[in-house]
Amino acid sequence: MRDDRTERQPMQEAFALLGHEIRLNILGALLNDWVAAYTEPIPYAELMASAEVEDSGKFNYHLGKLRGVYVQQVDGGYVPTAAATALYRAVIAHKPRQESNRTRLDVDSECPCCTASLVGTYQRGFLSVDCKSCDRWIGFSYPFPKNGFINRTDDEAISAAHKRCKHHLELARSGQCPFCAATTTIEVQEDAITEDDEPAVVVECDSCSFIVGSRILFFLLLDSQVISMLSYVGIDVKQYEWELPESTACLISQDPLRIRVEIEAEGDEVTLVVDESLDVCSVDASC
Ligand SMILES: [Zn+2]
Ligand SMILES: [Zn+2]
Repeated sequence: MRDDRTERQPMQEAFALLGHEIRLNILGALLNDWVAAYTEPIPYAELMASAEVEDSGKFNYHLGKLRGVYVQQVDGGYVPTAAATALYRAVIAHKPRQESNRTRLDVDSECPCCTASLVGTYQRGFLSVDCKSCDRWIGFSYPFPKNGFINRTDDEAISAAHKRCKHHLELARSGQCPFCAATTTIEVQEDAITEDDEPAVVVECDSCSFIVGSRILFFLLLDSQVISMLSYVGIDVKQYEWELPESTACLISQDPLRIRVEIEAEGDEVTLVVDESLDVCSVDASC
């Protein structure tokens, strides 16, 4: 079990360091000219001028507080650390002080269980697509930064969130947290494999708070073997996961764990077998 207090303390210290206007001016100046590994260091005097501080003692004090955590001294001056750029991007992406004006979204898609029109919502940073006519479909819900709505229609935003989720699922399944790069743990919920209203697989980050659950097929939509076999029988793999032809999953062996997923498409049937890591053991198509 994680010790929450020891985990929280460094976090509190890191956030507390930002609680001063001069420090934020210093970071702002450093992040303005950031070009990844090619970032040119800003010399001391130039950084002090950009931060609009005239007293060098005061400037030194605040720069000293940021050093190590958010600012690194290198030959020729100062550069922001990876923590500074990550935090900056998180703030830009989520625009914490700005309300989202799109809470209800138009979805051009139908419920896979009852064919009713689906309803899109955006609340607490989650973009969700649900069926209001039945409770047989699990729905779709994934974190989506507010930035994702800029220059996108409702449909485009939903499509972007779906694509984002698909890529994150692929990364998480491969053993890497899409947010912090730490290792992940895959948990197959054996009781839920055959159900449509519960996630059959849950993947959790071993370090940060990332957790995601889904049907098995959603985790496999970027697997090259799965893509080529589904395309071979004429299935468009780019459509929403819930718009794919009906699929069924069943446990075929417990030790070693093997799950079979069957997808039917107009006379053809694709059969996949995956193991406990969701690695594809075999893919077949029959006509
Ligand atoms: Zn429905
Ligand atoms: Zn993580």
